[in-house]
Amino acid sequence: MDYHIDTKCIQEGYKPTKGEPREVPIIQSTTFKYDTSEEMGKLFDLEATGYFYTRLQNPTNDYVAEKINALEGGAAAMLTSSGQAANFFALFNICESGDHFIASSSIYGGTYNLFNITMKKMGIDCTFVDQELSLEELAKFVKPNTKAVFGETITNPTVNVLDIEKFATFAHDHGIPLIIDNTFATPINCRPFEWGADIVTHSTTKYMDGHGAAVGGAIVDSGNFDWEKNRDKFPGLTTPDESYHGITYTEKFGKGAYITKATVQLMRDLGSIQSPQHAFYLSLGLESLHLRMKRHTESALKVAKYLESHEEVAWVNFPELESHPSNELAKKYCPQGTCGVLNFGIKGGRERSIKFMDSLKLASIATHVADAKTCLLHPASHTHRQLSDEQLEEAGVRPDLIRFSVGLEDPEDIIADLEQAFKEIG
Ligand code: PLP
Repeated sequence: MDYHIDTKCIQEGYKPTKGEPREVPIIQSTTFKYDTSEEMGKLFDLEATGYFYTRLQNPTNDYVAEKINALEGGAAAMLTSSGQAANFFALFNICESGDHFIASSSIYGGTYNLFNITMKKMGIDCTFVDQELSLEELAKFVKPNTKAVFGETITNPTVNVLDIEKFATFAHDHGIPLIIDNTFATPINCRPFEWGADIVTHSTTKYMDGHGAAVGGAIVDSGNFDWEKNRDKFPGLTTPDESYHGITYTEKFGKGAYITKATVQLMRDLGSIQSPQHAFYLSLGLESLHLRMKRHTESALKVAKYLESHEEVAWVNFPELESHPSNELAKKYCPQGTCGVLNFGIKGGRERSIKFMDSLKLASIATHVADAKTCLLHPASHTHRQLSDEQLEEAGVRPDLIRFSVGLEDPEDIIADLEQAFKEIG
């Protein structure tokens, strides 16, 4: 039976039978026992399925990945140690040295660094594009070695909504997949596969865990991209892997090819697994994701409206405000609400914005967003401090921008805290 998404948050993934624990068990074990060396050998050859070493797979992680898979409506999913690992694996699974991919320039600063610096050192080149460009303009950036297109559903920190359908058309016109980081919207507010995306990633550290307790990531494959149709572009999936005695992932695993390769090859070699304990915390968070997202988005809209009407505020960015350039896209892709993150600038510029932040009492300064406690930071001094002014502008981050993550407290208390800080700075 296909349940509503609220029910999936609770019931999907781990499905106990008679006498088994109702809560997902934490299988805190590095290794798994077998009776014969032949049985174990078959696992190493991918001739049989089963657990043998937690660096590759662990049952707790798989239960939780399956819940996220069900929420996104995918074919297969895996957990990673962090959102950074998820985005790196999602691309490195199909890009190798000499390849190129295209990413929106309006993405999280950590992802920008990964693409702009570290992956470049590995010989994988990224071109950053303005996500508002037309299909014709975007097409000019595609090269023969371009292997993927990447963007965020709701950009961090600028909270612009990506036109996922346009980006999917762009990617598919060139025989390459669209990878979407769906961290801010979560599958409660947007399911990118329904709009043509092929692969979805998450920093589960954010709303999915939701309590600021566990760093983690996830990759979900829709199973819809036809790797075989574009086989010359994706030899890692469509030609034999010598490290598994010549298995070809697309032939042997069909719609599971992409996630299987990332698990048995990338996890085996790079080892960025999520700990089963963290997966358990994530599972607890996912059980209330639908309730929390509703509260986060409703409260964020209240805070955004309050700020928009405040005489000390120079500007406010929240996609659900009519004044926001993404408002139409927000209505299309996130009709029930976007996220709890917004950003704004105080009149008087950078220095006054910083003074304002320091005057808040309930909201805390933290390098985080998207958890239960209201928090804020100043990207130009914190997350994006490696970027030059030019790169900041390219990423759409103004120097006075305050990123504000509305938590689950009573919205009246959050607004009262803002009010007292405005009084404090005079
Ligand atoms: N993607 C987005 C949109 C993020 O906001 C973040 C972190 O803030 C990441 C990825 C990286 O995730 P993590 O911090 O879990 O590595």
